[in-house]
Amino acid sequence: MCGKPHMGDARMQTAAVVAVGTELTAGLRVDTNTAEIARKLAPRGFVVLESVLCPDSVDVLAAEFLRLSDAYSLVVVTGGLGPTHDDVTREAAARAFDLPLVSDELHTTASRLAGHLDDSRALEGFFNQSLCLKGAEILAAQTGTASGQVLRVGEGTVVFLPGPPTEMRPMLDAWLQRFPLVRTRPIELGVVGKGESDAQAAASRVLESHTGIIFTVLAYPGDVRLLLLDDGADQSGMESAAAEIADALGKACYTRTGKSLGEELVCALRANGLTVACAESCTGGMVSAAITDVPGASEVFLGGVVTYSNEAKQRILGVDAALLAEHGAVSEQTALSMAEGGRRMFGADIAVSVTGIAGPGGGSVEKPVGLVWMAVSSTWGASASKNLFAKGSRESVRQRATSAALDLLRCEALGMRR
Ligand code: AMP
Ligand code: MG
Repeated sequence: MCGKPHMGDARMQTAAVVAVGTELTAGLRVDTNTAEIARKLAPRGFVVLESVLCPDSVDVLAAEFLRLSDAYSLVVVTGGLGPTHDDVTREAAARAFDLPLVSDELHTTASRLAGHLDDSRALEGFFNQSLCLKGAEILAAQTGTASGQVLRVGEGTVVFLPGPPTEMRPMLDAWLQRFPLVRTRPIELGVVGKGESDAQAAASRVLESHTGIIFTVLAYPGDVRLLLLDDGADQSGMESAAAEIADALGKACYTRTGKSLGEELVCALRANGLTVACAESCTGGMVSAAITDVPGASEVFLGGVVTYSNEAKQRILGVDAALLAEHGAVSEQTALSMAEGGRRMFGADIAVSVTGIAGPGGGSVEKPVGLVWMAVSSTWGASASKNLFAKGSRESVRQRATSAALDLLRCEALGMRR
């Protein structure tokens, strides 16, 4: 593979990915293969410049195969290699490249399977699956029945992989082994409690004095990710830039290894021999879920409760009825009392509470939608914090509150109060 334009980085060649399936173009299923393929191609020297979704149409596919194989060094096609009537990738490629489809003599998975079938239509499907483009290299199926194919087209290559991720993945991994690793592993930093422009500004300032690194900012509610990508830098260059960015961001940078907030929290608790519990209202168990998503959480997580009504807050967590009547459920006092009650109830070293107005209804001038009080109670005291997650949907208020609560716990576990 050579001769097609590369990206100014001599190690990189250009690539395109085609995801085939009318279920994808109709929005009935999500294309996850393209992201996986692009992510795995990059360290092997291919930068994906274009990705397309195509329906199960011979005309559309044939035209796209021709266009893309002319423009890029590598085209990876995923899907449409199955045995059913809508699996037309082989036929489209045969038309595009004017090649006959011939029986795959060496890789007879499909015909072997056909021996076990008595339905003649199924037989025909499996026969179609055993056809390959004349001159193509066959990639044996490791799972499923569809073989892959690698076809040289001019100076470039077109690779055909199955659509089901469990079939595509092992075939892609095996095929990629033939290309050496040419790029440094990307580094992903996680930032909590700062907006994307602050995170971006910090990274830009640091990267002014580094060469060969490009970065991208991925923003989620309550969580910003900075992705550093190798554009010529080596591993130590990438790592020292990441360390400088982390220093500039201070405690807001919770990971340099791409871990989630929940994972970093579990690590911090484990490292300090601490246990944790949650008392949640508006997040409805999302904080507990984020912690228990992490394998091994049982070593540090004792339990959580969702106390949504005032009555549940009183009965389960022991929040005083008079306190609730005087200050309301969304207040500093209630948050503190919930955290203390949660810690007592589970006998944990640290407990966090979350109580807020997720919206869209229920807000007032004094207590608008997005107001969330949270508190942390631990063996060395308790403190509450007020958050205003303004201008957000219910989902984003709850997600931002979850991230903030996880971060409160993380800071407490590391002994660095916010
Ligand atoms: P196919 O062999 O292409 O007909 O694919 C069969 C199954 O794999 C269907 O359930 C598809 O939704 C799934 N699939 C196909 N292509 C993709 C893709 N690009 N990403 C995720 N799933 C896919
Ligand atoms: Mg399909």
